[in-house]
Amino acid sequence: THQTELLRNKLEIHVKGGLVPPPFLSFSSCRLPQKLLHNIEAAGFGTPTPIQMQAIPIALSGKSLLASADTGSGKTTSFLVPVVSRCDGFRHQNFSRPKNPLAVVLTPTRELCIQVEDQAKLLGKGLPFKTALVVGGDAMAGQLHRIQQAVELIVGTPGRLIDLLAKHDIDLGDVMILVLDEVDCMLQKGFRDQVMQIFWALSQPQVLMYSATISQEVEKLASSMAKDIVSVSIGQPNR
Ligand code: ADP
Ligand code: MG
Repeated sequence: THQTELLRNKLEIHVKGGLVPPPFLSFSSCRLPQKLLHNIEAAGFGTPTPIQMQAIPIALSGKSLLASADTGSGKTTSFLVPVVSRCDGFRHQNFSRPKNPLAVVLTPTRELCIQVEDQAKLLGKGLPFKTALVVGGDAMAGQLHRIQQAVELIVGTPGRLIDLLAKHDIDLGDVMILVLDEVDCMLQKGFRDQVMQIFWALSQPQVLMYSATISQEVEKLASSMAKDIVSVSIGQPNR
C-alpha cells in the first residue's frame, strides 16, 4: 500500500521481488514466541533496526532473502529471530523436539561463528533450542557428539562442516533454513563450491543471504539457490 511505501522511503528500505510483506515497527507486533520476545527485550533490543523490520517478516513468511545493510545494523538478529521462531513452530506442529537440525548458519570465520552462536543462545534461552558450533580449531569428535544429541541449529564454517559431513553420517534432511552470513567474504575466500555442496545436501531450504555489497557473483549464487528470492537493501540504493 501507499503507507508501506512511505514507511520504506522514510527508513531507506529498498525491496525487490514479488509480494514482499510490509515492515513491522515493533518486535511485539510480529507474532513471535513469548519467550523469544522476552529474550529480545532482555537483550536490550527495544526497537527493531530497519533491516530487522523488513527482513524478519520476509523470513517468517518462508521466502528466501538476499539482504545488504551496513556493519553494525543488526543483521545477526534479523536472521536469528526467524530461525528461533520457526524452530519453535516446528516443535509445536510435531509435538516434540526435532531429532535432526532444522537450521544451518554458515559464516566465513570461526570468530564470527562463535559470535553468532552466542547470540543464538541468548535469543533461544529458556526454549528447547540447542545449538552446535562446527568450526576449525576444536576437536571434531566433540562437535559430532553435540550434533548427535539433537540440536536445532548448526553454526559453522563451510570447510569444517564439509569435513564433518564427509566423515560422518549426519542427517540434514530436515533443515528448513540455510543462512549465509557475509556471503561476499565467503566468496572472496573461495568457499563457493563448499557452500554449494552444503546447499545440495539440504532439501530445498529457505535461503537467507547477507552481504555487505551485492556483487554479480553474489546475485548469481542467490539465483542458483532460490528462484523467487526477495532483495532488501538498507541505505542508499544500488550499493
Ligand atoms: P551486523 O551483523 O549488521 O554487522 P550485528 O548483528 O553484529 O550487526 O549487531 C551489531 C550490534 O547491535 C550488536 O551488538 C547487537 O547486539 C546490537 N543490536 C542488534 N539489534 C539491535 C536492536 N534492535 N537494538 C539495539 N541493539 C541492537
Ligand atoms: Mg554480521
